[in-house]
Amino acid sequence: MLETHQFDAVIIGGGGAGLRASLQLAEAGVKVAVLSKVFPTRSHTVAAQGGIAAALGNVAEDKWLWHMYDTIKGSDFLGDQDAIEFMCKNAARAIIELEHFGMPFDRLDNGKIFQRPFGGMTQNFGETPISRTCAVADRTGHAMLHTLYQRNIQANTQFFVEWFALDLIRDADGDVLGVIALEIETGEIHIFQAKTTLIATGGAGRIFQASTNAFINTGDGLGMAMRAGLPLQDMEFWQFHPTGVLNAGVLITEGVRGEGGYLVNSEGERFMERYAPHAKDLASRDVIARASATEIKEGRGVGKNKDAVYLKLDHLGEELINKRLPGIREIAKTFANVDPIYEPIPVVPTCHYMMGGIPTNLDGQVVLEAESPVNGLYAVGEAACVSVHGANRLGSNSLLDLVVFGKAAGDKMVAEIAQNKAHKPLPTNAADATLARVNRLDQYQKSGAQGESVAEVGDAMRKAMQTHCGVFRFPDLLSAGVEEIDAVAARAQHIVIKDKSQVFNTARVEALELDNLIEVAVATMHAANNRTESRGAHAREDYSERDDENWLTHSLFYKQNNRLAYKPVRLKPLTVESFEPKKRVY
Ligand SMILES: Cc1cc2nc3c(=O)[nH]c(=O)nc-3n(C[C@H](O)[C@H](O)[C@H](O)COP(=O)(O)OP(=O)(O)OC[C@H]3O[C@@H](n4cnc5c(N)ncnc54)[C@H](O)[C@@H]3O)c2cc1C
Repeated sequence: MLETHQFDAVIIGGGGAGLRASLQLAEAGVKVAVLSKVFPTRSHTVAAQGGIAAALGNVAEDKWLWHMYDTIKGSDFLGDQDAIEFMCKNAARAIIELEHFGMPFDRLDNGKIFQRPFGGMTQNFGETPISRTCAVADRTGHAMLHTLYQRNIQANTQFFVEWFALDLIRDADGDVLGVIALEIETGEIHIFQAKTTLIATGGAGRIFQASTNAFINTGDGLGMAMRAGLPLQDMEFWQFHPTGVLNAGVLITEGVRGEGGYLVNSEGERFMERYAPHAKDLASRDVIARASATEIKEGRGVGKNKDAVYLKLDHLGEELINKRLPGIREIAKTFANVDPIYEPIPVVPTCHYMMGGIPTNLDGQVVLEAESPVNGLYAVGEAACVSVHGANRLGSNSLLDLVVFGKAAGDKMVAEIAQNKAHKPLPTNAADATLARVNRLDQYQKSGAQGESVAEVGDAMRKAMQTHCGVFRFPDLLSAGVEEIDAVAARAQHIVIKDKSQVFNTARVEALELDNLIEVAVATMHAANNRTESRGAHAREDYSERDDENWLTHSLFYKQNNRLAYKPVRLKPLTVESFEPKKRVY
């Protein structure tokens, strides 16, 4: 039997979502462990630049109901309106709480928290752009993650750093009893037995070639959920950020456009005036990404290969750039070789955020098709789909999602733990499938069998996703993409670790991450091929309109037989009237 650790709660992931939940548990006196494959403050949350949204009204009058409306419209009406109401209503409290935890928000001259405009955020149901995004210069995630980490240390959360979670333990009743994890340093595999387990493993943006995401964003929690027989929701919806640095992928925050920057094509034209006459460069991200892609496709791209557009901000002046966007200046100099005080930055639409994920309710409990919860299992953050972002997320709503639902899940877990005095016994075969999956890599290594490397199969996956499932989607490319990605998944079964110079455990972790990336890529391609409409970030050439009659519905993808099912969008909010779907213009 593997060495077993017992906790009341195990949190997989030390990003903003995991740390907000663990804090709630530790402060309630619960015995909680956080497992993280990297040091917690290196989680991708640290890279969040632009800010976190809340209708504080510090710059101009604001209401949570306006924020709710913007989020629903941004989601192209696929977001669940009860969850969106919950998030927007709780946003102000969440910001004040972060501030009391010690997060060093930027200030206005009157001492209140600074707020900047962000795409799709408006006053009075779409009338005028509003400053709703609270920020710490262009390093908001950094400040938030460090604040939450320090609070967790104070609250005695127990950290397992550089532990790689492999699989959930699910018994015959379908209850989740903990997780199997690998200690990266020693290569040992242990069991973490828990009354409640929370998945907070973040996104999987590394399924695409061009991505703003960290290399660690490999969708491990999604792979674990799928192998445990659970579905993933709305995986066809991936956000392409309009301003990733050309050829580098590194993000230039939307905050640049919030501060007054804008996009131009090779003719020097501010082209967003044509695509979104009202909101222009502060339209929703999906709208701007499609506009940029169209400009490039029609020959008005900039640069040697005419494959980018320019983000212009020199007119903002040196003082503002240095004060509000210092990190962006650094990134532009390092990765694009331009100083934005004088020259524009070449940018392209780049994969940025996963709207889909593991389906949950408002308490963060993972739910099955009929909304019934899976005992003992929770998910929050980018790995989860509650669903507040629907078919397209508004910038600065993700950091908010982490802290609002991180706290809600923590509260529910405390309540569930209080009811369960003892741990449920583990099934005797709990780790068999996982050990077989890990050992297959060692077997190939030992026997010298032929096979491909992680890099070769990974490249094939990224290429398939980029070519067949990008900003614009075409029917023939999608159906060919399904065949191609299924073939890549089969190739991953025969991976050999070829690079003997690598530390073996690191190579093994990369191979195990690829297992998860491929699970996510397969789910994405199948779900995208099946959805015959255009909505939010999913834009099909053959079905170019949104089709509410047939497709106002969440998709659920099951790994077993690549099965797709559908369930209704929750159009009824908690206390206010529904916002009926209507045409989405900016
Ligand atoms: C460059 C960039 C800028 C962004 N800017 C903003 C912004 O300004 N505003 C905004 O609202 N959103 C922004 N976003 C989106 C937002 O930052 C993310 O969606 C969010 O931070 C994700 O948080 P998370 O806690 O879910 O996951 P993450 O922060 O990604 O953390 C995941 C955690 O899971 C752990 N983990 C993963 N797999 C395993 C495993 N197998 N075993 C153990 N541990 C594991 C990791 O170690 C890590 O601790 C940005 C995203 C990017 C990429």
